[in-house]
Amino acid sequence: MHSFNVGILGATGAVGQKFIRLLRRHPWFTIKALGASKRSAGKTYKQAAHWIEDIELPGQVAKLKVSTCEPAHFEGVDFVFSGLDSSVAKDIEQAFATAGIPVISNAKNHRMFDSVPLLVPEVNPDHVEMIKSQDFTADGSGWIVTNPNCVCVPLSMSLRPIFDAFGIESVVVTSMQAVSGAGYPGVPSLDILGNAVPFIGGEEDKIHTEPLKMLGTLNSNGTVTHADFGVQSTAVRIPTVEGHLLSVAVKLKEKPSDISDVQKAIEDWKSPIADLDLPSAPKQPVKLYEEERHPQPRLHSARENGMQLGMGRLRTGSVFDISYIALAHNTVRGAAGGAILNAELLAEKGYLN
Ligand code: NAP
Repeated sequence: MHSFNVGILGATGAVGQKFIRLLRRHPWFTIKALGASKRSAGKTYKQAAHWIEDIELPGQVAKLKVSTCEPAHFEGVDFVFSGLDSSVAKDIEQAFATAGIPVISNAKNHRMFDSVPLLVPEVNPDHVEMIKSQDFTADGSGWIVTNPNCVCVPLSMSLRPIFDAFGIESVVVTSMQAVSGAGYPGVPSLDILGNAVPFIGGEEDKIHTEPLKMLGTLNSNGTVTHADFGVQSTAVRIPTVEGHLLSVAVKLKEKPSDISDVQKAIEDWKSPIADLDLPSAPKQPVKLYEEERHPQPRLHSARENGMQLGMGRLRTGSVFDISYIALAHNTVRGAAGGAILNAELLAEKGYLN
């Protein structure tokens, strides 16, 4: 049994609130400190945050004072989760790592650094080794681990069994992304109600690069050789609240004789962390739906506490070898829940003391 005191940077935002919700009864992690901008600092959390979760704000968190995001205000925490806006995350996260406080981040800023793991425990748990080549502190006590963009989580999780079984030549993906992915207050209601917006700034670049790092091979010197297939994407904002839905087409290196071979590869795939019994790990990380109208954001994104990846509509294609739908809860599996699972893996592997 582990026991850690944690801080949350960006605690007042959409992802920060999801951290508070998910950690309120966590068996290992206790929230001790909260950070946000100068706009929020000095207030209690209840005064500072515009609470958008559909549960009551946990009482002991409501009373905590929010501070600015400086390491001196986080004495006594064992590590911090970051849900910081990317415009400020780089300098703040590096300041914490340099002060010897590990950072487990959702922000994009450090994801593609050569020594920073871009981690989804079911996809690339071995990449935690990259931490050893970070030099934020002389004694290795401060480091940064990131989780990927909220589309890249379902994309990499769904590609993992397919990549392992057949190899991948190329991927085309269209993401239909919920409004919560833009944070709070996010997309103006007049832009999105009864509408769809076929552009999300900066999103497609992440979708083209992050999966290649996650599906890359860890070298003995702690670097990762990225996977070498091409990814082409179109990111669309749609008027759902939570759950990003992806339409994916894949050209495979080795051709399956039948679509049932692909179905079997997905259904037989065993999560590499299945035996660790981590508190936030879903019992069934990937569920392949047979019903052709599933998975759907409203019905299925919260399955297994929002940590399960839904797949469906697996079929052969006339241009690409296979097509399918993937769905993941963007603020849980794609953000706070994914970061908490990363922390659990890091605790279990002895990186958190
Ligand atoms: P958000 O709702 O806009 O929240 C941003 C947070 O950053 C707030 O707590 C805000 O504090 C804080 N902040 C802003 N400026 C600051 C400053 N100068 N100093 C310290 N704190 C500052 O955004 P979000 O959706 O929660 O996203 C947070 C991060 O997670 C982003 O990097 C985003 O790209 C990433 N992410 C989001 C999702 C998602 O589905 N939403 C998924 C994956 C990753 P104040 O309240 O005081 O302004």
